[in-house]
Amino acid sequence: MTSNTEEGNKKKLEEEKREMNNNSSPANFIENIIIEDLKSNMNDGKVHTRFPPEPNGYLHIGHAKSICLNFGIAQEFKGLCNLRFDDTNPSKEEVEYVESIKEDVRWLGFDWDDRMFYASDYFEKLYQYALQLIKAGKAYVDDLSAEEIREYRGTLTEPGKNSPYRDRSIEENLDLFKRMRSGEFPDGSRVLRAKIDMASPNMNLRDPVLYRIMRATHHRTGDKWCIYPMYDYAHPISDALEGITHSICTLEFEDHRPLYNWIIDSLIDEVTDFKSRPQQIEFARLNLTNTVMSKRKLRELVEEGYVEGWDDPRMPTISGLRRRGYTPEAIRDFCERIGVAKSNSIVDIALLEHCIREDLNAKAPRVMAVLRPLKVVIENYPEDQVEELEAENNPENSSMGSRKIPFCREIYIEQEDFMENPPKKFFRLTPGKEVRLKHAYIIKCERVIKDENTGEIIELRCTYDPQTKSGEDTSGKKVKGTLHWVSAHHALKAEVRLYDHLFIEESSEGESETKMVLNPNSLEKLTSFVEPSLKNASIGNSYQFLRNGYFCVDPDSTDNKLVFNRIVGLRDTWAKIKKG
Ligand code: ATP
Ligand code: MG
Repeated sequence: MTSNTEEGNKKKLEEEKREMNNNSSPANFIENIIIEDLKSNMNDGKVHTRFPPEPNGYLHIGHAKSICLNFGIAQEFKGLCNLRFDDTNPSKEEVEYVESIKEDVRWLGFDWDDRMFYASDYFEKLYQYALQLIKAGKAYVDDLSAEEIREYRGTLTEPGKNSPYRDRSIEENLDLFKRMRSGEFPDGSRVLRAKIDMASPNMNLRDPVLYRIMRATHHRTGDKWCIYPMYDYAHPISDALEGITHSICTLEFEDHRPLYNWIIDSLIDEVTDFKSRPQQIEFARLNLTNTVMSKRKLRELVEEGYVEGWDDPRMPTISGLRRRGYTPEAIRDFCERIGVAKSNSIVDIALLEHCIREDLNAKAPRVMAVLRPLKVVIENYPEDQVEELEAENNPENSSMGSRKIPFCREIYIEQEDFMENPPKKFFRLTPGKEVRLKHAYIIKCERVIKDENTGEIIELRCTYDPQTKSGEDTSGKKVKGTLHWVSAHHALKAEVRLYDHLFIEESSEGESETKMVLNPNSLEKLTSFVEPSLKNASIGNSYQFLRNGYFCVDPDSTDNKLVFNRIVGLRDTWAKIKKG
C-alpha cells in the first residue's frame, strides 16, 4: 500500500517537475525535495545553491558532478548558485588553486556572476557569532590537549566525559577567547568548543571544536588571524549569510547535519544578517574505476612525479581532461547520465569515454594519420605524379564538407595492417592480396623487403589498379579491407601520445589502497605521420584519426612539431556492456 502511494507521489512530482522546467528527464531526489519546498513556499519560493571548493588542489571529475548539480539546479529552478571558496584552513591553500578552480568552473559552462565569495570574507562575523554562542552558554574554551580531547570523546559504544573546563563561567570564556584571538596563547594550547552533549550517540555532537589556534599565513587575510574556524562551524554560517537555501554536499557529511542545524538554530534568532535558514542535503560522491579521486592522492601523483602535473592528460582533473581533449559538453553529459543518488557506487570509466565519443562523433573532422608507419612503394605509379583526391570530412555530418588529400608513389600504412603469414580472417594487406586505400585505389602487395640483418619488414612493394579510384571504380572488384594511409612525401611528422588508465586494477577510493596499482604503461609516445591538411591545426582542436580513435592537439605543439593526445580509442566498451 505505502509503496504504491509513494510510487504515485513520485510520478506526480516528476510530472510537476517536467511542467515546471520543460525538462524530459525524471527528477532526482534532490529536485523532488526542492519541488516540495517550493510548493510549501519555503524560503519565499527561492532556490539558492553554492559550489564550495576548498582551494587546496585542482578540481577533478567528482567536483564536476557537484558543479553540474549545484549550478544545474539553480538554472532549472530559476535560482542562483554562488561560487564560494572554503578557505578556512590556511596551511594547505594557495592562490594558484583559486585561479584554476575559477577557470575550470567557467570552462564547464557555468557562471557565478558577481557572487564569488570566500569563507574568509566572514572571519570577523564568525568570530562575533562565537562570542554570542559563549554568551548564550553554548560554547567554552577548553585547555585540554588534542590528545586529551580525543580520549575524553569516548567511542561509538561508550559515551564521552566532560572536560574539566566545560563549566567555566561565561566571563572567563569570553576573556580567554578574546585572548586566543589576540595571540596570547601558543598554537594548539586551547580551542573553542560547542557545548552540546558529551554522551550523544552522534560523535559530531560531543562538544565539537569550533576554533583552533594556528599561526599560519592565510592567502587572503595574511597574518591578521591566529585563530581559524573549523569547517563545520564556518560552513552553515557562510550558507546562511549568503542566503543559501539548499546546501548540497557529499554523503560523508550526513552525520554532521545535526551539528549544521545546531549551529544555525543556536544563532538564527539573534543574528540579523542571516538571509536564509539553509538545509543540508547529502548525495553520493562520484567514484570512477581505474583512477583515484581525492585531492590528496592526486597531489601525491603530481608531487612524486608519477605524472607531469595537475593537467597531465592522464589525470582525472578537469584541467587534465581538458588537455586530453574532453569537451565541457561530454563532461556535462556524463554528469547527467550518472545521476544523483543517496548511496555510494563506482562508475565505470568506460561511460566517461563513451560520452566523449558521442560528442565528437559528429563534431570532429575525420582525417588520416599513421601511428606506426610502414613504407609502401607503388611500383606502377608514375614517379613524379601527385593526385589530389577528394575526401569527405565527416560522413555523419555532410555540412562539414570535404578536402583534398595528395596521393603519390610512396605512402605509409600502419605496420599492423600488414602480415606476411596472416591468420584466416585477416582482411588487411598480405602478400599477393588486394586491399582498398581509403579515398584512393585498390593496391596489391607484390613483395616484402626486409632488413638483411634483423629480418624486420622495412618496406612493401605494391602495385595499384588505376581502374579502382574511389568514387570512379569501374573494375567491379570487391575487397574486404580498407586501410588508412598518408602520402610519404606530403605527410607531417607528429608526436602522438597514447594513454592508458593511470591505475590498472579496477578499484577506487574507499577500497583498500593496495588494490590500486599504478599502470607503468599509461603513456606511450610515438613518432607518427598525419595528413598534410593538419598543418594549421591549433591547440585544442580535435579530430578522428580514421580507425585509430579521437585525438586532440596538445599545448606542447610548436610551429615545427605537432603533438597529439589520444583522447580515446574507437572501440566503445561501454556500448558493448550495455548491449550485453
Ligand atoms: P577531495 O576529497 O577530492 O579532496 P573534497 O570534498 O575535500 O574533495 P572540496 O573542495 O571540499 O573537496 O569539494 C567541493 C565540493 O565538491 C564539495 O561540496 C564536495 O562535496 C564536492 N565533491 C568533492 N568530491 C566529490 C566527488 N567525488 N563527487 C561529487 N562531489 C564531490
Ligand atoms: Mg574538503
